[in-house]
Order: sequence, then C-alpha cells, then structure tokens
Amino acid sequence: MKLVFATNNLNKLAEVQKMLPASIELLSLKDINCFDEVDETELTLEGNAKLKANYITEKFGFNCFADDTGLEVESLDGKPGVFSARFAGEPSNSEKNMKKLLSELEHKTNRKAQFRTAICLNIDKNQFIFEGICNGEILEKKHGEKGFGYDPIFKPEGYSVSFAEMSSEEKNKISHRGIAIQKLVAFLKKYNK
Ligand code: IMP
Repeated sequence: MKLVFATNNLNKLAEVQKMLPASIELLSLKDINCFDEVDETELTLEGNAKLKANYITEKFGFNCFADDTGLEVESLDGKPGVFSARFAGEPSNSEKNMKKLLSELEHKTNRKAQFRTAICLNIDKNQFIFEGICNGEILEKKHGEKGFGYDPIFKPEGYSVSFAEMSSEEKNKISHRGIAIQKLVAFLKKYNK
C-alpha cells in the first residue's frame, strides 16, 4: 500500500518508514508532485492536521496522514498552542518565539507545559486521529544546542535535561510526535494484516 506522509522533511519520512512493515510504502509530498502550500487556517491542531490530510486525499486521491504540533503552556491558557510556529510573528523564528515565551512567563511560578501532536490519517475513505502528549516544564533559560523550535527551553517530566540536550533517538522515544507516530504505526500494522 502506498501512503503519503504530508511532509517534505525526508528525515521524518525515513524515521517513520523504518517503523513500518515493508508492505507500506511511504511517499513524501514531492514524490506525488505536490508543491502546494496548505495554509494552516484552523484553530486546533486536529483541525490543521485534517485540513492538510484532506487536501492531499481530495486533490491527489492518496491515502495520507498529516501532523500538527503545538506547545501548550498551562499558565498561559494553552498558548502558544496552534500558533507555536508563528508565536512571535511571521516568518517563523524559533529564537524570537522562545524569547517571547520566556518574557510572558517571567513572573509566573507555574511553568508546566505540554507538547501535543495530532495526526490525521485518511485511509480508504475513513478518517482516524492519533494524539501524542509530552508533559514537562518551561525552563528559565535556554539549555542545549540540539533539536529545533522550543527544544532548548522545554524539559520533559522525569528528566533533568532539556529536549535540546538529548539525542534525537532519546527524544523520539518520549516526545509528543514520537508517541503519536507509535500509535499510528501500531494501527497501520494491524490494519495492513
Ligand atoms: P509542526 O506542526 O511540527 O510544524 O510544529 C509547529 C511548531 O511547534 C514548530 O514550528 C516549532 O516551533 C514547535 N515544535 C513542534 N515540535 C517541536 C519539538 O519537538 N520541539 C520543539 N518545538 C517543536
């Protein structure tokens, strides 16, 4: 079965392909000649994941899955959430996003936060949503150089280091995206039997 992962990130694609049985062939957007930008106009992660997956299925006719991720900070009522990429405005800039978040949390004692990923899978005219959550807290300042986005200021629960101080293998095991992908893969393995 061919299945489109609505991404152009070949590292992400290879990572997921490794977890799938060989009978499922993952395709990137480039593989199906899709060079369109789908605007993430919905107000929820699930909504944006559906929007992207539906665009591919409707326009290109493929089974497809798409993901969307946000950082939800408890004392900011879930902000930046669905706006995580453009928290400090567009074009998206991780340094500016982290700076803004740290300044909004300056006088807050509750620094609890979670990363949340929603995946929407369109398969044989059915739709399924998978969610992955990683609980943690926002650090007072940046730690580490690895990763991307808010990694240097996010410390997952039960760990003494930030995401940016972990190897990608270590992070993938416990991360929001990793958990959502594991759920998707478990589903596809059963579905494909
Ligand atoms: P996307 O939906 O994967 O594009 O994620 C939206 C935004 O959330 C990104 O631009 C990052 O700012 C942030 N983000 C998503 N996943 C992570 C992560 O694993 N670590 C740090 N930041 C992330």
